[in-house]
Order: sequence, then structure tokens, then C-alpha cells
Amino acid sequence: MSAADAAPAPPLRARLEVALPGRVAAGVSLARLGRWRIGGPVDLVVTPDSVADVARAVAILADSGVRWTAIGEGSNILFDSAGHRGVILRIGPDLARYRADPATGEIEAEAGIWVPCFVRRTLTLGLAGCVHAIGIPGMLGGLVAMNGGSQRRGIGDAVVEVTAVDPAGRLKHFARAACDFAYRASVFQRNGAVVVAARFRYAPADPAALRREAIAIMAERRRKFPSRLPNCGSVFVSDPALYATLGPPGAAIEAVGLKGTRAGGARISPVHANFIVNEGGASSDDVLALIALARARVLAATGIAMRSEVLHLPPDGPLRAAHEKAEATAA
Ligand SMILES: Cc1cc2nc3c(=O)[nH]c(=O)nc-3n(C[C@H](O)[C@H](O)[C@H](O)COP(=O)(O)OP(=O)(O)OC[C@H]3O[C@@H](n4cnc5c(N)ncnc54)[C@H](O)[C@@H]3O)c2cc1C
Repeated sequence: MSAADAAPAPPLRARLEVALPGRVAAGVSLARLGRWRIGGPVDLVVTPDSVADVARAVAILADSGVRWTAIGEGSNILFDSAGHRGVILRIGPDLARYRADPATGEIEAEAGIWVPCFVRRTLTLGLAGCVHAIGIPGMLGGLVAMNGGSQRRGIGDAVVEVTAVDPAGRLKHFARAACDFAYRASVFQRNGAVVVAARFRYAPADPAALRREAIAIMAERRRKFPSRLPNCGSVFVSDPALYATLGPPGAAIEAVGLKGTRAGGARISPVHANFIVNEGGASSDDVLALIALARARVLAATGIAMRSEVLHLPPDGPLRAAHEKAEATAA
């Protein structure tokens, strides 16, 4: 996304309001936009309800030179308690139409559909291939950009084509090969394009069997992961070298004695140590302190520096891996 030091000047707000009437808000609390329920005010939030409006908004933002960031559900982002000077482009539930062709197994959905809703629709249609994502509380666009998934699967596995708005505001189509999907990675993390829709092809299957599989996955997630307190899922990415020594990040953090550790209102979950929960009133610094502590202890024990999957949006810069900010704060 484009970057500049300037905060959005009033003319930008006016231009956006003319182009997208009723879809621009100022001073919104980021705590309302992220799953950790942490964050101060942001200058502007734009919430388009059509693909054309996303393109219009991006073209205006590109022209303004003001920093802007596309988000979905904010289920993988730590917003800063000091807020953010810039614009949030939220691809959310107002951009959530879909159409399916059961004859070909193809389903095309806009990027603001909530992932569990998208998966439930494929189950009803008797389409197999994305049930692994049933418990992931993000938007489809965010899931595609992160190539998120579970059970060693990624949403990109069944993509036929992704439609995205490039940083200049032009609509582009990316065939699967051009999406460059890899483990929790895609071209959309590098090219600054905003995913607005995706087309998938799934194999036919018995809806009842799919539903049983979904119920089993949800039961396992409820058993393994904290579900009561606000969190952003797994904080650290799995690393093969770490896996060979102490296991996945949760096991490693537990092995160095940090499961249940608190910093202010944040806590390394006593249910699963790769989750940090907001017990009430946590600040972004509380979460960053726990990320720095877990990383330092695991590094001291194994020589391996864990990388965070979770991103941090600073008050005056672009998104970056939360562990980078945690290191800088701890130093
Ligand atoms: C309880 C819980 C469980 C989770 N379990 C899993 C899991 O099992 N597997 C897994 O992979 N993840 C999991 N996550 C993490 C998260 O849900 C996923 O990474 C999800 O894909 C993020 O989607 P989002 O819409 O919330 O994206 P956001 O958090 O809003 O954004 C994440 C990144 O995607 C970019 N982005 C968002 N929307 C778009 C778009 N339309 N176009 C381009 N870029 C975009 C943002 O700029 C940012 O870089 C979990 C999170 C929680 C809270």
C-alpha cells in the first residue's frame, strides 16, 4: 500500500466522501476493527460495498500519496494503542456477494465474505476442499492474501483466479499460478493489490459427510484453542528447525516456562501457548512485551528466533511482522 508521512488532509476526506457517499468515517477506534480489541483512533476508515468502489477509493488514495492499509476482519493484526495516522480500507461484509455453479464445482465470492460463512455455503452445496478453513474467523480476501488454512492446507489450493485492484486502482485478474501461493504467503503480500473476489473449483461430495467433518474440526479447535477471550490466533509461525527441537511454537513457549505469563492485560494463553489473549484492557505494548519475551526465551534455549505470523500496524508506518516491532521496543 502506498506510504507517505502526511496524515490525510481534509480534501482527501472530501474526495472520498463524494466518490463513496456514506462509506467514509473519521476517528474510528481500531479496537472495533481487530480481533484483539486493542487500538486507538485511526484518521479515516473507508468501507466500500462494490468492486468498482474499491477501485475508485484506491485510485483516490494513490493520487493523494497518503498512507493506506487494506484490512479484512483484523484477525491477524495488532493495532497500536496510539492509533494510526492514515486510512484503513476495510474489505468487509458489505462486499460479500457470491455465486456458485454446482455443475462445474465453481464458486466465486467477493472478498468481504466471512470465511466460516463461505465454508458453510460450500458444505451446503456439497463442494469439498475448504472445510479445513471452517474455524478461521477472517474475511475471504484476508485469507487469500495470507493463504491461510489449517490441517496443512491453504485456501489457495483450490483457487482458479483472484480478482484484485492494483495500487493504482486498476482491476486485475490473477490466474492461480500468478498468485504465487506458498505456506501462509501469496503475491498479494508483496504487490500491494487489494483482493476483491476469488473463484474456486471444488470437487463434489456428500453434504452430510462434509458437515460431519466440519463439526469434528470445530470440536478439535474448541478443545485446543482459547475461544472466550479476544485473540488473533497463532502468534508465531511454525519453523522446521524449532519443530525438530522443542516442537511447534506453542510447545516451545510452554517448554521455556512461559505458558500463562501476563504483561498488563495480556496473557500467554494457559490453553495454548502460541495464543496471546486480551484479558481486559490490554495495550499493544502488553502484547508486544509478551512477543519479545517468548522470542528471547526460545532463542536462548534453542538458538532459533521465532517469526510472528501476526502483523503490527504502528501509529505512523506500514504493517510489518509484530516480532520486528517487539524487538525494537524491547531493545
Ligand atoms: C481465533 C483465531 C483462529 C485463527 N486460526 C487460523 C488458522 O487456523 N489458520 C490461519 O491461517 N489463520 C488463522 N487465524 C488468523 C487469521 O484469521 C487469518 O490469517 C485470516 O486469513 C486473516 O484474515 P483477515 O480478514 O482477518 O485479515 P486481516 O487480519 O485484516 O489482514 C491480514 C493481512 O491480510 C491483508 N489483507 C486483508 N484483506 C485483504 C484484501 N482484501 N486484499 C489484500 N490484502 C488483504 C492485510 O493487509 C494484512 O496484511 C486465526 C485467527 C484467530 C483470531
